[in-house]
Amino acid sequence: MSNAMPLPLYAIGLGSNRRHARYGDPRAVLLAALAALESDDIEAVDASPIIASDPIGPSRRRYANAVALVASELSPPEMLDRLQEIEARFGRRTGQRWSARTLDLDILLWSGGAWADASLTIPHPALERRAFVLGPLRAIVPGWKHPLRGRSVRQLAARLIRPKPVDPNASGH
Ligand code: ATP
Ligand code: CA
Ligand code: CA
Repeated sequence: MSNAMPLPLYAIGLGSNRRHARYGDPRAVLLAALAALESDDIEAVDASPIIASDPIGPSRRRYANAVALVASELSPPEMLDRLQEIEARFGRRTGQRWSARTLDLDILLWSGGAWADASLTIPHPALERRAFVLGPLRAIVPGWKHPLRGRSVRQLAARLIRPKPVDPNASGH
């Protein structure tokens, strides 16, 4: 045992909009996925409440969403591999983005800061546009600062939810 450096933290986004034969509805899928995340090298620190959100993209099913805070010495690519293994165990089919899926696990934030390679971008690029991500994230890590925006999760959530003042120079979207 060593108590040298604190373990890096990851905020992991969980989503499901499909029943699982064994676990049941999307909410139950997320509870099972939270349990599956915990392992020898991934320690569960906290989890948000599970919320229901409207679908994005082609699927019309509602989503269950949550965010887990975990501590792990896995590197970001190792963490992504692990998350994809868990998705596969839950019967995730590869293919269409945003299609109905049993389980989607995304890396939202990492205490190491930013990461960008061909298959992995941290912070998750859509984080600041998604209320179903920022809401649960704010429930567990409101003060975590987005390393590229310099704003906390609380501030990003407030910006997203508050109606924006009309900007006469805005380009239209
Ligand atoms: P979105 O990323 O907009 O939420 P999605 O989760 O539906 O869409 P997927 O089909 O699950 O997208 O993933 C596509 C690819 O995104 C993955 O194979 C992975 O390589 C890549 N990716 C890039 N950054 C991340 C990240 N931070 N977390 C998870 N996957 C990521
Ligand atoms: Ca996703
Ligand atoms: Ca994903």
